[in-house]
Amino acid sequence: MKILKIYKETISDGPGWRYSIYVAGCLHACRGCHNIRSWSFNYGREFDEAYEAEILNDLKNNRILTGVTFSGGDPMFSAEEVLALIFKIKAETGLNIWVYTGFTIDELIDQRNDGEQEAARFEMLKHIDILVDGRWVRELYDPSLQYRGSSNQRLIDTKKWLQKLNLL
Ligand code: SF4
Repeated sequence: MKILKIYKETISDGPGWRYSIYVAGCLHACRGCHNIRSWSFNYGREFDEAYEAEILNDLKNNRILTGVTFSGGDPMFSAEEVLALIFKIKAETGLNIWVYTGFTIDELIDQRNDGEQEAARFEMLKHIDILVDGRWVRELYDPSLQYRGSSNQRLIDTKKWLQKLNLL
């Protein structure tokens, strides 16, 4: 997995001060995507043990932070590695976690038995706080929307959603 960039303090990707991690790679190919360069899985810095330690160190030593946001690209295409990092962030900091994805939550649930990557995507839903779901649709773009670009995208409390479906 490669990381495109990290914003160490931002108020753009969710409530409060957040640490935003942009994961490289996306296969959704939304028409009018804001960042076509982010589609490549080979762009950015390799996520290795040293980088992980840097991130955890940043998070533990910045008291202004209220949460961590994963965006991209689409972090669901690197779900196994992102999930492992989420486990560590939760265990070591307790910060809340938002994830942006081009998949809908319904797709992630329906595909959960299709393979290891799909199982990790579903598992992620059990451990994060908010999923911002769905592809970016140019015709539905609305600049007045908070934390999302087009009106089809939803801010979903994943644990409540799974509980309603008896999946948690
Ligand atoms: S999901 Fe995001 S990064 Fe991927 S193509 Fe769509 S807008 Fe671009």
